[in-house]
Amino acid sequence: MDYARFDTTPALSQFRDEVRTFLDQILTPELMAEARARGDEHHPDFFRALGARGWLIPDAAPEIGGAGLSYEEIEILDTEMALRSAPVINVATTRTIFPSVRDFAQPEIRDRVIREVTRGETALTLGYTEPSGGSDIAHVKTRAVRQPDGDWILNGSKVFTTGAHHARYIFLLVNTNPQAKRRAGLTMFLLPVALAGVQISAIHTLGERTNVVYFGDVRVPDVFRLGEVDGGWAVLQGPLDAEHGVGGERTGHRAHLDIAAIYARRLALAFEASVDWARQTAVRRDDPLIAYRLGEALLRVESGMAADLLEGRVHAATQCIEGTSELLELVAPDGLVHDENTMASHVLHAHLGAQVSSIYGGTVEVFRNLVARQLGLPAPRYD
Ligand SMILES: Cc1cc2nc3c(=O)[nH]c(=O)nc-3n(C[C@H](O)[C@H](O)[C@H](O)COP(=O)(O)OP(=O)(O)OC[C@H]3O[C@@H](n4cnc5c(N)ncnc54)[C@H](O)[C@@H]3O)c2cc1C
Repeated sequence: MDYARFDTTPALSQFRDEVRTFLDQILTPELMAEARARGDEHHPDFFRALGARGWLIPDAAPEIGGAGLSYEEIEILDTEMALRSAPVINVATTRTIFPSVRDFAQPEIRDRVIREVTRGETALTLGYTEPSGGSDIAHVKTRAVRQPDGDWILNGSKVFTTGAHHARYIFLLVNTNPQAKRRAGLTMFLLPVALAGVQISAIHTLGERTNVVYFGDVRVPDVFRLGEVDGGWAVLQGPLDAEHGVGGERTGHRAHLDIAAIYARRLALAFEASVDWARQTAVRRDDPLIAYRLGEALLRVESGMAADLLEGRVHAATQCIEGTSELLELVAPDGLVHDENTMASHVLHAHLGAQVSSIYGGTVEVFRNLVARQLGLPAPRYD
Protein backbone atom coordinates (compact mmCIF):
# COMPACT_ATOMS: atom_id res chain seq x y z
CA MET A 1 0.00 0.00 0.00
CA ASP A 2 1.19 3.54 -0.64
CA TYR A 3 -1.02 5.35 1.94
CA ALA A 4 -1.18 8.30 -0.46
CA ARG A 5 -3.62 11.09 0.30
CA PHE A 6 -3.65 12.21 -3.34
CA ASP A 7 -3.67 10.72 -6.83
CA THR A 8 -0.27 9.29 -7.61
CA THR A 9 1.01 10.43 -11.00
CA PRO A 10 3.74 8.55 -12.93
CA ALA A 11 6.22 11.24 -11.86
CA LEU A 12 5.30 10.72 -8.21
CA SER A 13 5.58 6.94 -8.58
CA GLN A 14 9.04 7.46 -10.01
CA PHE A 15 9.92 9.68 -7.07
CA ARG A 16 8.70 6.96 -4.69
CA ASP A 17 11.03 4.47 -6.39
CA GLU A 18 13.89 6.94 -5.96
CA VAL A 19 13.10 7.29 -2.25
CA ARG A 20 12.88 3.52 -1.79
CA THR A 21 16.24 2.98 -3.49
CA PHE A 22 17.83 5.65 -1.29
CA LEU A 23 16.37 4.13 1.88
CA ASP A 24 17.43 0.62 0.82
CA GLN A 25 20.99 1.88 0.53
CA ILE A 26 21.23 3.96 3.67
CA LEU A 27 19.06 2.06 6.17
CA THR A 28 21.31 -0.95 6.43
CA PRO A 29 20.56 -3.57 9.12
CA GLU A 30 23.68 -2.35 10.96
CA LEU A 31 22.52 1.29 10.98
CA MET A 32 19.03 0.31 12.09
CA ALA A 33 20.39 -1.93 14.85
CA GLU A 34 22.64 0.90 16.10
CA ALA A 35 19.79 3.42 16.11
CA ARG A 36 17.47 0.97 17.89
CA ALA A 37 20.10 0.01 20.45
CA ARG A 38 20.64 3.64 21.46
CA GLY A 39 16.89 4.10 21.76
CA ASP A 40 16.95 7.71 20.65
CA GLU A 41 15.57 7.34 17.12
CA HIS A 42 18.50 9.19 15.60
CA HIS A 43 21.47 8.19 13.52
CA PRO A 44 23.97 10.83 12.38
CA ASP A 45 24.76 9.00 9.12
CA PHE A 46 21.11 8.90 8.15
CA PHE A 47 20.63 12.53 9.16
CA ARG A 48 23.61 13.61 7.02
CA ALA A 49 22.54 11.47 4.09
CA LEU A 50 19.14 13.13 4.07
CA GLY A 51 20.84 16.53 4.19
CA ALA A 52 23.23 15.67 1.37
CA ARG A 53 20.23 14.86 -0.77
CA GLY A 54 18.39 18.06 0.16
CA TRP A 55 15.71 15.96 1.85
CA LEU A 56 16.25 17.06 5.41
CA ILE A 57 14.44 20.35 4.79
CA PRO A 58 12.92 19.06 1.58
CA ASP A 59 10.85 22.06 0.56
CA ALA A 60 13.73 24.52 0.99
CA ALA A 61 15.07 25.94 -2.25
CA PRO A 62 18.11 24.16 -3.75
CA GLU A 63 20.15 27.40 -3.41
CA ILE A 64 20.00 27.01 0.37
CA GLY A 65 20.49 23.26 0.42
CA GLY A 66 16.96 21.92 0.09
CA ALA A 67 15.48 19.99 -2.82
CA GLY A 68 12.45 22.19 -3.49
CA LEU A 69 10.14 19.19 -3.12
CA SER A 70 6.39 19.57 -3.51
CA TYR A 71 3.94 18.77 -0.71
CA GLU A 72 3.09 15.46 -2.39
CA GLU A 73 6.75 14.47 -2.71
CA ILE A 74 7.35 15.27 0.96
CA GLU A 75 4.35 13.11 1.87
CA ILE A 76 5.86 10.24 -0.09
CA LEU A 77 9.28 10.72 1.47
CA ASP A 78 7.84 10.85 5.00
CA THR A 79 5.56 7.88 4.46
CA GLU A 80 8.37 5.72 3.12
CA MET A 81 10.63 6.72 6.01
CA ALA A 82 7.89 5.91 8.51
CA LEU A 83 7.18 2.51 6.96
CA ARG A 84 10.87 1.66 7.37
CA SER A 85 10.88 2.93 10.95
CA ALA A 86 13.71 5.29 9.93
CA PRO A 87 15.29 7.17 12.87
CA VAL A 88 13.68 10.57 12.38
CA ILE A 89 13.24 12.26 15.76
CA ASN A 90 15.83 14.94 15.07
CA VAL A 91 14.61 15.24 11.50
CA ALA A 92 11.17 16.13 12.86
CA THR A 93 12.43 18.62 15.47
CA THR A 94 14.81 20.26 12.99
CA ARG A 95 12.12 20.63 10.34
CA THR A 96 9.70 22.10 12.87
CA ILE A 97 12.11 24.83 13.92
CA PHE A 98 13.77 25.61 10.59
CA PRO A 99 11.23 28.17 9.30
CA SER A 100 11.58 30.23 12.49
CA VAL A 101 15.37 30.23 12.20
CA ARG A 102 15.08 31.26 8.57
CA ASP A 103 12.67 34.07 9.43
CA PHE A 104 14.00 35.33 12.78
CA ALA A 105 17.74 34.56 13.11
CA GLN A 106 20.07 37.55 13.10
CA PRO A 107 22.00 38.12 9.86
CA GLU A 108 25.34 37.33 11.55
CA ILE A 109 24.42 33.66 12.06
CA ARG A 110 21.45 33.12 9.77
CA ASP A 111 23.05 31.95 6.50
CA ARG A 112 25.62 29.75 8.24
CA VAL A 113 23.02 27.99 10.38
CA ILE A 114 20.68 27.54 7.43
CA ARG A 115 23.46 25.94 5.40
CA GLU A 116 24.55 23.67 8.24
CA VAL A 117 20.99 22.56 8.88
CA THR A 118 19.92 21.87 5.31
CA ARG A 119 23.13 19.89 4.71
CA GLY A 120 22.41 17.69 7.70
CA GLU A 121 25.41 18.92 9.70
CA THR A 122 23.36 20.48 12.48
CA ALA A 123 20.27 19.25 14.30
CA LEU A 124 17.87 21.55 16.14
CA THR A 125 15.85 20.60 19.18
CA LEU A 126 12.78 21.99 20.95
CA GLY A 127 13.31 23.50 24.40
CA TYR A 128 9.92 24.51 25.77
CA THR A 129 8.89 22.14 28.57
CA GLU A 130 10.12 22.71 32.12
CA PRO A 131 10.02 20.47 35.18
CA SER A 132 7.21 22.60 36.65
CA GLY A 133 4.88 21.82 33.73
CA GLY A 134 4.63 21.66 29.98
CA SER A 135 0.97 22.14 29.09
CA ASP A 136 1.03 25.74 30.22
CA ILE A 137 3.91 26.58 27.96
CA ALA A 138 3.96 30.30 28.77
CA HIS A 139 4.69 29.54 32.41
CA VAL A 140 8.46 29.73 31.89
CA LYS A 141 10.87 29.90 34.78
CA THR A 142 14.16 29.60 32.88
CA ARG A 143 15.44 33.10 33.10
CA ALA A 144 17.75 35.16 30.87
CA VAL A 145 19.10 38.46 32.24
CA ARG A 146 20.68 41.07 29.97
CA GLN A 147 24.23 42.12 30.88
CA PRO A 148 25.74 45.59 30.38
CA ASP A 149 27.83 44.26 27.46
CA GLY A 150 24.68 43.00 25.69
CA ASP A 151 25.18 39.28 26.47
CA TRP A 152 22.63 37.29 28.44
CA ILE A 153 23.13 35.14 31.54
CA LEU A 154 20.81 32.18 31.57
CA ASN A 155 19.71 29.97 34.47
CA GLY A 156 17.08 27.25 34.72
CA SER A 157 16.23 23.87 33.26
CA LYS A 158 14.21 22.20 30.54
CA VAL A 159 12.89 18.68 30.50
CA PHE A 160 11.98 16.27 27.67
CA THR A 161 14.37 18.12 25.37
CA THR A 162 14.31 15.31 22.84
CA GLY A 163 17.40 14.92 20.71
CA ALA A 164 19.38 17.62 22.57
CA HIS A 165 22.34 15.26 22.91
CA HIS A 166 22.66 15.18 19.11
CA ALA A 167 21.73 18.79 18.44
CA ARG A 168 23.97 21.81 17.98
CA TYR A 169 21.24 24.26 19.02
CA ILE A 170 18.24 24.31 21.33
CA PHE A 171 15.27 26.42 20.20
CA LEU A 172 14.92 27.80 23.68
CA LEU A 173 12.00 29.59 25.30
CA VAL A 174 13.07 31.77 28.24
CA ASN A 175 11.64 34.42 30.49
CA THR A 176 13.27 37.81 30.00
CA ASN A 177 10.71 39.91 31.82
CA PRO A 178 9.02 38.39 34.90
CA GLN A 179 7.03 41.59 35.45
CA ALA A 180 5.31 41.36 32.06
CA LYS A 181 2.07 39.50 31.52
CA ARG A 182 2.77 35.84 30.65
CA ARG A 183 3.51 35.68 26.89
CA ALA A 184 4.68 39.30 26.77
CA GLY A 185 7.84 38.57 28.77
CA LEU A 186 9.20 35.65 26.75
CA THR A 187 12.14 35.56 24.34
CA MET A 188 13.44 32.83 22.03
CA PHE A 189 17.10 31.90 21.60
CA LEU A 190 18.90 29.51 19.31
CA LEU A 191 21.10 28.36 22.12
CA PRO A 192 24.38 26.62 21.20
CA VAL A 193 24.51 23.41 23.22
CA ALA A 194 28.30 23.71 23.45
CA LEU A 195 28.21 26.86 25.63
CA ALA A 196 29.77 26.54 29.10
CA GLY A 197 27.14 25.80 31.74
CA VAL A 198 24.83 23.68 29.57
CA GLN A 199 24.49 20.17 30.96
CA ILE A 200 22.47 17.41 29.29
CA SER A 201 21.36 14.21 31.05
CA ALA A 202 19.38 11.29 29.66
CA ILE A 203 15.79 10.38 30.54
CA HIS A 204 14.74 6.96 29.29
CA THR A 205 11.01 6.79 28.67
CA LEU A 206 8.99 3.79 27.56
CA GLY A 207 9.31 4.60 23.88
CA GLU A 208 12.39 6.73 23.47
CA ARG A 209 15.36 8.43 25.11
CA THR A 210 14.88 12.11 25.80
CA ASN A 211 16.75 14.58 28.06
CA VAL A 212 16.77 17.03 30.91
CA VAL A 213 18.94 20.10 30.25
CA TYR A 214 20.33 22.33 32.99
CA PHE A 215 21.54 25.89 32.45
CA GLY A 216 23.91 27.26 35.08
CA ASP A 217 25.08 30.84 34.50
CA VAL A 218 25.29 30.27 30.76
CA ARG A 219 26.65 33.36 29.01
CA VAL A 220 24.80 33.73 25.69
CA PRO A 221 25.88 36.31 23.09
CA ASP A 222 22.90 38.36 21.92
CA VAL A 223 23.50 37.24 18.34
CA PHE A 224 21.75 33.95 19.24
CA ARG A 225 18.50 35.71 20.11
CA LEU A 226 15.66 35.02 17.64
CA GLY A 227 13.24 37.89 17.02
CA GLU A 228 12.59 40.71 19.45
CA VAL A 229 13.38 40.84 23.17
CA ASP A 230 10.11 39.85 24.91
CA GLY A 231 8.72 39.02 21.45
CA GLY A 232 9.36 35.30 21.65
CA TRP A 233 5.76 34.30 21.16
CA ALA A 234 5.82 35.48 17.53
CA VAL A 235 8.89 33.30 16.89
CA LEU A 236 7.33 30.32 18.63
CA GLN A 237 3.91 30.54 17.02
CA GLY A 238 4.74 28.77 13.76
CA PRO A 239 6.46 25.74 15.32
CA LEU A 240 3.73 25.49 17.97
CA ASP A 241 1.01 25.58 15.33
CA ALA A 242 2.84 22.90 13.38
CA GLU A 243 2.97 20.63 16.42
CA HIS A 244 -0.72 21.29 17.02
CA GLY A 245 -1.59 20.57 13.40
CA VAL A 246 -3.06 24.01 12.68
CA GLY A 247 -2.18 27.20 10.82
CA GLY A 248 0.21 25.59 8.35
CA GLU A 249 -1.00 27.49 5.33
CA ARG A 250 -0.40 30.76 7.11
CA THR A 251 3.03 29.97 8.50
CA GLY A 252 4.43 27.80 5.73
CA HIS A 253 4.92 24.91 8.15
CA ARG A 254 2.36 22.53 6.71
CA ALA A 255 4.74 20.66 4.47
CA HIS A 256 7.11 20.18 7.37
CA LEU A 257 4.95 18.44 9.84
CA ASP A 258 1.51 16.97 9.64
CA ILE A 259 1.19 15.63 13.12
CA ALA A 260 -1.91 13.45 12.60
CA ALA A 261 -0.27 11.81 9.59
CA ILE A 262 2.86 11.07 11.65
CA TYR A 263 0.79 9.09 14.14
CA ALA A 264 -1.23 7.37 11.42
CA ARG A 265 1.99 6.34 9.68
CA ARG A 266 3.33 4.86 12.91
CA LEU A 267 0.22 2.70 13.04
CA ALA A 268 0.69 1.88 9.34
CA LEU A 269 4.11 0.49 10.17
CA ALA A 270 2.58 -1.81 12.80
CA PHE A 271 -0.16 -2.78 10.35
CA GLU A 272 2.31 -3.67 7.58
CA ALA A 273 4.40 -5.72 10.01
CA SER A 274 1.27 -7.52 11.24
CA VAL A 275 0.21 -8.38 7.70
CA ASP A 276 3.65 -9.87 7.08
CA TRP A 277 3.42 -11.72 10.37
CA ALA A 278 0.00 -13.12 9.41
CA ARG A 279 1.24 -14.23 5.99
CA GLN A 280 4.46 -15.81 7.16
CA THR A 281 4.23 -16.68 10.84
CA ALA A 282 0.66 -17.00 12.08
CA VAL A 283 -0.17 -20.53 13.14
CA ARG A 284 -3.78 -20.24 11.97
CA ARG A 285 -3.47 -18.05 8.92
CA ASP A 286 -7.06 -18.76 7.83
CA ASP A 287 -8.55 -17.61 11.14
CA PRO A 288 -11.19 -14.98 10.23
CA LEU A 289 -10.38 -13.12 13.44
CA ILE A 290 -6.93 -12.33 12.08
CA ALA A 291 -8.43 -10.80 8.93
CA TYR A 292 -10.95 -8.92 11.07
CA ARG A 293 -8.25 -7.42 13.32
CA LEU A 294 -6.14 -6.43 10.34
CA GLY A 295 -9.17 -4.86 8.65
CA GLU A 296 -9.92 -2.86 11.81
CA ALA A 297 -6.34 -1.64 11.98
CA LEU A 298 -6.37 -0.56 8.35
CA LEU A 299 -9.54 1.44 8.96
CA ARG A 300 -7.81 3.15 11.87
CA VAL A 301 -4.82 3.97 9.65
CA GLU A 302 -7.01 5.39 6.90
CA SER A 303 -9.11 7.49 9.26
CA GLY A 304 -5.97 8.76 10.97
CA MET A 305 -4.45 9.73 7.62
CA ALA A 306 -7.63 11.60 6.71
CA ALA A 307 -7.77 13.46 10.02
CA ASP A 308 -6.72 17.09 10.25
CA LEU A 309 -6.38 20.04 12.60
CA LEU A 310 -6.76 19.88 16.40
CA GLU A 311 -9.42 17.19 16.39
CA GLY A 312 -7.43 15.21 13.83
CA ARG A 313 -4.45 15.18 16.13
CA VAL A 314 -6.56 13.77 18.98
CA HIS A 315 -8.16 11.24 16.66
CA ALA A 316 -4.90 10.06 15.08
CA ALA A 317 -3.16 9.76 18.47
CA THR A 318 -6.05 7.68 19.80
CA GLN A 319 -6.10 5.45 16.72
CA CYS A 320 -2.36 4.99 16.96
CA ILE A 321 -2.41 3.95 20.62
CA GLU A 322 -5.47 1.69 20.40
CA GLY A 323 -4.54 0.27 17.00
CA THR A 324 -0.99 -0.70 17.94
CA SER A 325 -2.30 -2.19 21.18
CA GLU A 326 -4.76 -4.43 19.29
CA LEU A 327 -2.11 -5.46 16.80
CA LEU A 328 0.28 -6.31 19.63
CA GLU A 329 -2.40 -8.58 21.06
CA LEU A 330 -2.75 -10.18 17.65
CA VAL A 331 0.92 -11.01 17.24
CA ALA A 332 1.45 -11.98 20.88
CA PRO A 333 3.49 -13.69 22.18
CA ASP A 334 5.92 -13.12 19.26
CA GLY A 335 5.66 -9.36 19.79
CA LEU A 336 6.92 -9.53 23.32
CA VAL A 337 10.33 -10.77 22.26
CA HIS A 338 12.88 -8.02 21.55
CA ASP A 339 14.31 -9.51 18.39
CA GLU A 340 15.10 -7.07 15.60
CA ASN A 341 14.50 -9.70 12.97
CA THR A 342 10.88 -10.51 13.66
CA MET A 343 7.93 -8.70 12.11
CA ALA A 344 6.26 -8.77 15.51
CA SER A 345 9.08 -6.73 17.02
CA HIS A 346 8.12 -3.85 14.71
CA VAL A 347 4.64 -3.97 16.20
CA LEU A 348 6.07 -3.81 19.70
CA HIS A 349 8.33 -0.92 18.72
CA ALA A 350 5.41 0.99 17.18
CA HIS A 351 3.25 0.29 20.23
CA LEU A 352 5.86 1.62 22.66
CA GLY A 353 6.43 4.67 20.49
CA ALA A 354 2.68 5.22 20.19
CA GLN A 355 2.26 5.95 23.89
CA VAL A 356 3.79 9.41 23.65
CA SER A 357 1.56 10.43 20.75
CA SER A 358 -1.01 11.47 23.35
CA ILE A 359 1.59 13.61 25.17
CA TYR A 360 4.17 15.36 23.09
CA GLY A 361 3.35 18.59 21.37
CA GLY A 362 0.57 18.87 23.98
CA THR A 363 -1.59 16.20 25.59
CA VAL A 364 -4.86 14.96 24.11
CA GLU A 365 -6.68 16.22 27.22
CA VAL A 366 -5.52 19.76 26.50
CA PHE A 367 -6.43 19.37 22.83
CA ARG A 368 -9.90 18.11 23.69
CA ASN A 369 -10.42 21.29 25.69
CA LEU A 370 -9.24 23.39 22.77
CA VAL A 371 -11.67 21.63 20.45
CA ALA A 372 -14.44 22.23 22.99
CA ARG A 373 -13.55 25.92 23.09
CA GLN A 374 -13.76 26.07 19.29
CA LEU A 375 -17.24 24.59 19.56
CA GLY A 376 -18.22 27.36 21.95
CA LEU A 377 -18.50 25.03 24.95
CA PRO A 378 -17.64 26.33 28.41
CA ALA A 379 -14.08 25.93 29.73
CA PRO A 380 -13.68 23.02 32.18
CA ARG A 381 -13.22 23.64 35.91
CA TYR A 382 -10.80 21.59 37.92
CA ASP A 383 -11.54 22.88 41.42
C1 LIG B 1 8.83 11.35 25.03
C2 LIG B 1 8.56 12.81 25.16
C3 LIG B 1 9.22 13.69 24.32
C4 LIG B 1 9.02 15.08 24.46
N1 LIG B 1 9.76 15.93 23.67
C5 LIG B 1 9.73 17.26 23.95
C6 LIG B 1 10.64 18.16 23.31
O1 LIG B 1 11.43 17.77 22.44
N2 LIG B 1 10.64 19.46 23.69
C7 LIG B 1 9.78 19.94 24.65
O2 LIG B 1 9.82 21.14 24.94
N3 LIG B 1 8.89 19.13 25.26
C8 LIG B 1 8.85 17.79 24.94
N4 LIG B 1 7.99 16.95 25.58
C9 LIG B 1 7.11 17.49 26.60
C10 LIG B 1 5.63 17.46 26.24
O3 LIG B 1 5.32 18.47 25.31
C11 LIG B 1 4.90 17.64 27.57
O4 LIG B 1 5.12 16.45 28.30
C12 LIG B 1 3.42 17.86 27.41
O5 LIG B 1 3.18 19.11 26.81
C13 LIG B 1 2.69 17.79 28.76
O6 LIG B 1 3.35 18.54 29.71
P1 LIG B 1 3.74 17.91 31.13
O7 LIG B 1 4.39 16.59 30.88
O8 LIG B 1 4.52 18.94 31.87
O9 LIG B 1 2.38 17.62 31.85
P2 LIG B 1 1.51 18.67 32.65
O10 LIG B 1 1.34 19.91 31.85
O11 LIG B 1 2.06 18.80 34.02
O12 LIG B 1 0.12 17.90 32.70
C14 LIG B 1 -0.10 16.81 33.59
C15 LIG B 1 -1.46 16.22 33.29
O13 LIG B 1 -2.47 17.23 33.45
C16 LIG B 1 -3.24 17.37 32.27
N5 LIG B 1 -3.53 18.78 32.03
C17 LIG B 1 -2.67 19.82 32.19
N6 LIG B 1 -3.27 20.98 31.84
C18 LIG B 1 -4.52 20.66 31.45
C19 LIG B 1 -5.61 21.42 30.95
N7 LIG B 1 -5.54 22.76 30.79
N8 LIG B 1 -6.74 20.76 30.63
C20 LIG B 1 -6.83 19.41 30.78
N9 LIG B 1 -5.83 18.64 31.23
C21 LIG B 1 -4.68 19.25 31.56
C22 LIG B 1 -2.38 16.81 31.15
O14 LIG B 1 -3.17 16.29 30.10
C23 LIG B 1 -1.60 15.71 31.85
O15 LIG B 1 -2.36 14.53 31.87
C24 LIG B 1 8.12 15.56 25.42
C25 LIG B 1 7.41 14.67 26.24
C26 LIG B 1 7.63 13.31 26.13
C27 LIG B 1 6.88 12.38 27.05
